[in-house]
Amino acid sequence: MIVGGGLAGVELATALAEQGAEDVVLLEAGPGGDLAHIHLAHPQAAATEIVFAPERDPYFHRPWRSGAPPHYTGISGLRRRLGGRSLYWHGVVLPLEDWALHPPGWPAEIVAELTTGVGGAPSWYDRVTEQLTDWSGGGLWDPAQPARTSIGGQEFRALPRACRRRPGTDRWEAYTALDAWRGPDGDVTPP
Ligand SMILES: Cc1cc2nc3c(=O)[nH]c(=O)nc-3n(C[C@H](O)[C@H](O)[C@H](O)COP(=O)(O)OP(=O)(O)OC[C@H]3O[C@@H](n4cnc5c(N)ncnc54)[C@H](O)[C@@H]3O)c2cc1C
Repeated sequence: MIVGGGLAGVELATALAEQGAEDVVLLEAGPGGDLAHIHLAHPQAAATEIVFAPERDPYFHRPWRSGAPPHYTGISGLRRRLGGRSLYWHGVVLPLEDWALHPPGWPAEIVAELTTGVGGAPSWYDRVTEQLTDWSGGGLWDPAQPARTSIGGQEFRALPRACRRRPGTDRWEAYTALDAWRGPDGDVTPP
């Protein structure tokens, strides 16, 4: 039983279904009738407003009161709908920072599988980047960004963005595992 059908929950449900699990229940508090990314459903200005004026987003829900404002106030809250914030995010794929991974962080063998790969197998970072590149039709890298740049003596590299454009429009969407459930007509049928 997976509680929460957002970015993580739908990904997990999809991965379990791909492994042949047939007894998975995904519980989502919000509705499942509107499954388009906000930048596909709305023009740029309207989508930005939905993010930064969340009272205009019918799915916005903040079930808490912050004990430390301004933290956890403002745009901080749930987007209570099947897909959760996978239907809002910008697709910037951030690797975990070294300090979080290394001792006493995650087990060494998991860190190796994730970052360098083990026994000649590609790392999970590389595998997921490849999967997202396939999903985006090869357009994972923002062409406006240089691959590497140097500022103040520090080297920076561009991060992959799991986004794709709708051909012939200025609309775009970021990756959601809901796509694994979409039929040719675009409708989503959970397995
Ligand atoms: C505008 C925007 C841009 C972003 N851009 C990026 C980016 O570029 N890169 C990046 O890494 N991150 C980005 N993020 C953050 C990213 O979207 C979140 O970190 C990610 O979606 C969190 O996934 P999650 O599954 O934990 O939570 P969510 O996707 O929020 O899913 C949680 C789900 O649980 C449901 N739920 C909650 N309580 C219950 C309950 N009691 N019972 C049943 N269901 C429940 C909710 O309705 C929701 O659907 C962005 C977020 C926003 C809003």
